[in-house]
Amino acid sequence: MKKIIPFVSDCDEESTLLWLRYLQDEMSEYDIVLFKNLSKSQKENADTAIVANPKPSDIFQLKNLKWVQSLWAGVEKLLLDIPYASFKIVRMIDPILAHTMADSVLAWTLYLHKNMPLYKKQQNQKIWKQHQELLPEEKNILVLGLGKLGLESVNKLRENGFCVLGWSRSKKEINGVITYHGEEGLHQALKNADIVVCLLPLTNQTINLLDKEKLNLLQPNTSIINFARGAIIDYDYLLEKLEKSELSHAVLDVFEKEPLDENSPLWNNENITILPHISAPTNMKSASKIASKNISDYYDKGTLPDFVDIKKGY
Ligand code: NAP
Repeated sequence: MKKIIPFVSDCDEESTLLWLRYLQDEMSEYDIVLFKNLSKSQKENADTAIVANPKPSDIFQLKNLKWVQSLWAGVEKLLLDIPYASFKIVRMIDPILAHTMADSVLAWTLYLHKNMPLYKKQQNQKIWKQHQELLPEEKNILVLGLGKLGLESVNKLRENGFCVLGWSRSKKEINGVITYHGEEGLHQALKNADIVVCLLPLTNQTINLLDKEKLNLLQPNTSIINFARGAIIDYDYLLEKLEKSELSHAVLDVFEKEPLDENSPLWNNENITILPHISAPTNMKSASKIASKNISDYYDKGTLPDFVDIKKGY
């Protein structure tokens, strides 16, 4: 009999079934079983599970879990829903996701660097006017968060000639990157940034991190790219600053509530580019391979992948 691995998902039915197919294809030595189809004894015997937006009431029925494999890179919802989990949480760390994110960071940095929002506005008004373009090395791109996604993005920006600044919780030395850490470091970094790219996890420390005070440290020609989580930036105040031309442009891929409400004033501002959470979509095939390897290593070699530090929140 194959070992049962529960799949606890509260995604819509179509994506749940698609995930199930990808996971099962990669894990032929196990039976991946949807939570609703588990028997009482299968629930009791489960020591690992694969999860995608699981309902807490489902997870709590798996009383003997040692760890769960999340299919998402960000686990703030899981930590919020299940704050005192007795099991460890392993988030999705996928190099393909990091490459995809770095491509998106580069693409939207170039969009801003090449003045595309301005040329779009000019086109709308039939204005034929050329603007001086700075060299990439004359542009300071500040990446907030130097983890899996931040580091890959930093490297891609450097390869393309940009002057890169980075900010993280702990002190770091990265070849060719001006690094900052801590509150004072953030203040300095923000003052020097032409483009701020947010790639931080959402935690108790990063919620509303870019508040009025921090946004006021930015120069009026500064633009913001948020590819992390909406709640990290005070969007109401950001909008106010964009309306007053105290900031240049914002590319927003993430929002506190998604999809973004159709009445949100963010939609209508020409200095804001709205994206529907597409900067780094999870690749089902590669994510399933990674989940499969983590689970096989656990049962075959007894090794547990790196897990989320619940106190730090990431
Ligand atoms: P990660 O590897 O855990 O890296 C997190 C980075 O943030 C680390 O450098 C960490 O500093 C820094 N950090 C955390 N808390 C901090 C604080 N209070 N002050 C300063 N720095 C802090 O995470 P990741 O894999 O790069 O992913 C980052 C986030 O991207 C995810 O949590 C998720 O929300 C988001 N994401 C978005 C999409 C999308 O499609 N839009 C896709 C995937 C992920 P240390 O290095 O010092 O620990």
